[in-house]
Amino acid sequence: MSGRRARLRRCRGEGRISIAAGCVGIARAGLEAAARSVSQRKAFGGPLSEQQGVRFMLAEMAREVAAARAVTRVAAAAKDRGESIAEVSSIAKWTASDAAMRVATDAVQLLGATGYSRETGVERLMRDAKGAQIYEGTNQIHRLIVADEVLRGLD
Ligand SMILES: Cc1cc2nc3c(=O)[nH]c(=O)nc-3n(C[C@H](O)[C@H](O)[C@H](O)COP(=O)(O)OP(=O)(O)OC[C@H]3O[C@@H](n4cnc5c(N)ncnc54)[C@H](O)[C@@H]3O)c2cc1C
Repeated sequence: MSGRRARLRRCRGEGRISIAAGCVGIARAGLEAAARSVSQRKAFGGPLSEQQGVRFMLAEMAREVAAARAVTRVAAAAKDRGESIAEVSSIAKWTASDAAMRVATDAVQLLGATGYSRETGVERLMRDAKGAQIYEGTNQIHRLIVADEVLRGLD
């Protein structure tokens, strides 16, 4: 690969790690907004946060945030060590943007109609997450990149 192509490839990988980091922020914001809302909103004789089904959703959202953060850190550490980041940056961008989308969608659900409306800003997280699944290489294209890297690794 020419030096120019290699630099471009690395630059794209670095951009994808930045997108992944932003997606961790989106997911975290969604989790925090949802946790705050279900703690305050009372229904069925107490806060929604006392409902097991709601707690399960919060736990799954927290798991998504932690997994997205971990894979983003792995990619950033590989970049800092000067290692190849073609595969790990695609995995980080794809994983973190999918996590952000799932968490933001669940946050809208847990806030109910106020989550869907513009008054809380949570619906914006959902749109931002959807954008991140599309730009900087759609997540379908990242599947192709990862498969290419896996097969290249056999050479
Ligand atoms: C919020 C937002 C911000 C953006 N910002 C920028 C920017 O700053 N700069 C810039 O240059 N562009 C930007 N874009 C454009 C973005 O990069 C493109 O939308 C993206 O690359 C997809 O291209 P497309 O929209 O033409 O979709 P298409 O290429 O028409 O693809 C449509 C769908 O088909 C899927 N698809 C295509 N080929 C395959 C395949 N071989 N296998 C499986 N699935 C496939 C895609 O994944 C996608 O889901 C932005 C887009 C959005 C939504």
